Amino acid sequence: MAATLLDGKAMAQEVRALARERAAALAEKGRQPGLAVILVGNDPASEIYVRNKGRACEDTGIRSETIHLPADTAQETLEEEIARLNADPAIHGILVQLPLPAHLDADRALAAIRPEKDVDGFHPVNAGRLLAGQDTVLPCTPRGAMYMLKSTGLPLSGKEAVVVGRSNIVGKPMALLLLRENCTVTLCHSRTADLAAHTRRADILVAAVGRPGLITADMVKPGAVVIDVGINRVEGKVVGDVDFAGVRETAGWITPVPGGCGPMTIAMLMLNTVEAAERA
Ligand code: NDP
Repeated sequence: MAATLLDGKAMAQEVRALARERAAALAEKGRQPGLAVILVGNDPASEIYVRNKGRACEDTGIRSETIHLPADTAQETLEEEIARLNADPAIHGILVQLPLPAHLDADRALAAIRPEKDVDGFHPVNAGRLLAGQDTVLPCTPRGAMYMLKSTGLPLSGKEAVVVGRSNIVGKPMALLLLRENCTVTLCHSRTADLAAHTRRADILVAAVGRPGLITADMVKPGAVVIDVGINRVEGKVVGDVDFAGVRETAGWITPVPGGCGPMTIAMLMLNTVEAAERA
């Protein structure tokens, strides 16, 4: 039997409706949430992402400001811009669109954002709080993936969860969120000796790699929940890391690409921004 689709587009609408309602409540008190997005250079994919975030803000009732800096911007100029936004009471969330041009130090830029305004959850203080099991801002993509996972209604405690990919923005925080739900978590990466041996044990499988078709049906346990975070452009089409046509025959639940983790990530950015404004 084909897997049940986890409809990220529909779930993103639910999350955005909640964010919209709470943004309106803040606006009524004269505290409309504000998000600033800093884009350095002219990477076409980044420009699309930034435009989509601006549209989502408009739809949610969040005031948005895009700061577009030239590709040759110096580190000091970028950090001055971040300092200005840190001090601006109308801005509750600051986001530096990654990747930055190679001459810039992304870690330094992210660390320059005040942790309370770090709506991406990438600041070392917020990442550390997540590691320590404390309440904190959750990175948008893993937060969205957890929302989709929880929508299955499956009890998570004691489940085998396998995350493929160990980046700071997706794989590692995803593994920590699953651990928080008492899953037994395995984190795989490019040096993992036998990837399929791990993925076949997974009740919950998260692919966050950036390789089309990496996860095939023979690597998936029948009935598993498969969350595909990957975004890859192949012959003009956007596909994930999971061989969707094959895996949907084996899995119990699966997220599509597009229409899965992508829309959920933007919805969670809206919610993180509203929550930052509520706390301010
Ligand atoms: P990174 O490139 O930072 O990390 C990729 C990870 O995959 C690394 O940990 C790498 O291992 C691992 N890896 C690479 N090749 C293999 C392999 N053959 N087998 C197992 N693991 C492998 O990517 P991100 O985490 O930033 O993004 C991952 C994917 O998710 C991308 O496609 C990206 O576009 C997408 N993405 C989607 C978002 C959304 O909104 N849906 C948001 C963010 C990202 P190692 O550490 O050893 O190098």
